[in-house]
Amino acid sequence: MMAFPISDASPVQFSAPLPEACDVVVIGGGVIGVMTAWHLADRGFRVTVCEKGRIAGEQSSRNWGWVRQQGRDLAELPIMVESLRQWQSLSQELGEGLGFRQEGVMYLAKTEAEMEGFEAWLAEARPHGVDTRMMSAAEVGGTIQGAAKAWKGGLFTPSDARAEPWAAVPLLAGAAQAKGVVIIENCAVRALDVAAGRVTGVITEQGRIGCDQVVLAGGAWSSLFARAHGVKFPQLSVRATVLATEPLPEVFAGNAADDDFAFRRRKDGGYTLAPGGAHDFFIGPDAFRHAAVYLPVLKKDFRATRFHPAAPTGYPDAWGTPRRWAADAPSPFEAIRVLNPAPNARIVADVQRAFAACFPGLGWPKLRAAWAGMIDTMPDVVPVIDRVAALPGLVLATGMSGHGFGIGPGIGRVVADLVAGNPLGHDLHRFRLSRFSDGTKIAPGPSL
Ligand SMILES: Cc1cc2nc3c(=O)[nH]c(=O)nc-3n(C[C@H](O)[C@H](O)[C@H](O)COP(=O)(O)OP(=O)(O)OC[C@H]3O[C@@H](n4cnc5c(N)ncnc54)[C@H](O)[C@@H]3O)c2cc1C
Repeated sequence: MMAFPISDASPVQFSAPLPEACDVVVIGGGVIGVMTAWHLADRGFRVTVCEKGRIAGEQSSRNWGWVRQQGRDLAELPIMVESLRQWQSLSQELGEGLGFRQEGVMYLAKTEAEMEGFEAWLAEARPHGVDTRMMSAAEVGGTIQGAAKAWKGGLFTPSDARAEPWAAVPLLAGAAQAKGVVIIENCAVRALDVAAGRVTGVITEQGRIGCDQVVLAGGAWSSLFARAHGVKFPQLSVRATVLATEPLPEVFAGNAADDDFAFRRRKDGGYTLAPGGAHDFFIGPDAFRHAAVYLPVLKKDFRATRFHPAAPTGYPDAWGTPRRWAADAPSPFEAIRVLNPAPNARIVADVQRAFAACFPGLGWPKLRAAWAGMIDTMPDVVPVIDRVAALPGLVLATGMSGHGFGIGPGIGRVVADLVAGNPLGHDLHRFRLSRFSDGTKIAPGPSL
């Protein structure tokens, strides 16, 4: 079996010397940090991206690669529409290496209730100009070849797309570096440097960088980092398992999913497969702290969630992970350079079985690789994108809740303009930090 392409054993690709000062430090070299830095560089800012492990080592390489408008929360949809335009121009600029292909996303319904859910989303999304349409059972049967399942119908967005995550994000980082962004791997940010109540820099394991603003795009580690500075938000993580098959004939050119499994064909001819919803949750102190606000989403997802009493050592919400540390000694961010969870073997086998039963003509899908990622999630399944009023100079761009890859370029543009003080072009009210403290009723997005 192939080893996952990015781990802490991968050679360091980005090792610029630590600058004494810059305008903005971005914490985290996932798609959000990289694309924020990209757009800040375009606006003339001197930017440094500090990544504790490897660029795209965590969620941004481990995801399914779906670039979708379909099923989005309506507050995210306009940003996603913009993001798709960016993917198109990025793929013209950077070429084949992104693996960007617009061959559609299809959701498949096994019940009339699911069809009604699709219709309800479509009615609200249509004004945003999406090309999504409902598909009948016959249309689905004519589009997905050789399926032994009889779906009731589907929801299809032809302009939705995919890219190859573990190739795309490092390529984007290389292009950002060519624009002047300073990128440093193996460079954990241990703490913010704060003076007179505002951010004046960051303390990294390699030393201090002075700066006026910091963007926290630390994925699953963001709330651990922020909380140490008194900035609290209810972020948790779930483990999501993925597998890659050996090359197999094409049954559908796009990406598709029902509630049993999701599939899409990679550039190398194999399929990337995943369960429709099943995931693992490790209980830790934050899970108790935020239990009440997560109840609505938990009720929705309860059957798909497998609970475990504790996370592996060193994980962001493991019982033994320190919540406070000194800036002049190794921090939890150096203890795990690349969060590389073991895949759930039972889920891998279930997905192989479900795919084989659905496409008997393809035979048993042989495994090329299996991996997992820790998805950082929020109780309303939408991110936090905001300035921190209580700590001037700190901007949050985190909690992408399992769908931050496709929207990454769009979020990066919005965050760059937030930092620059420019008009944002979109309403970020739903993503504000204060929703967790101002009495707002937390309502989960569609998570279709
Ligand atoms: C299995 C799986 C499937 C998914 N499928 C899709 C999909 O098909 N489509 C989609 O749109 N999204 C998908 N997602 C979600 C998507 O991958 C994420 O939302 C997105 O990658 C988040 O990007 P990020 O930059 O916020 O976080 P990450 O990619 O997790 O990056 C955060 C980075 O910050 C670094 N970091 C953290 N703390 C520090 C620190 N103190 N100092 C320095 N560095 C630090 C980490 O090392 C990490 O590299 C999926 C996710 C998973 C796990």
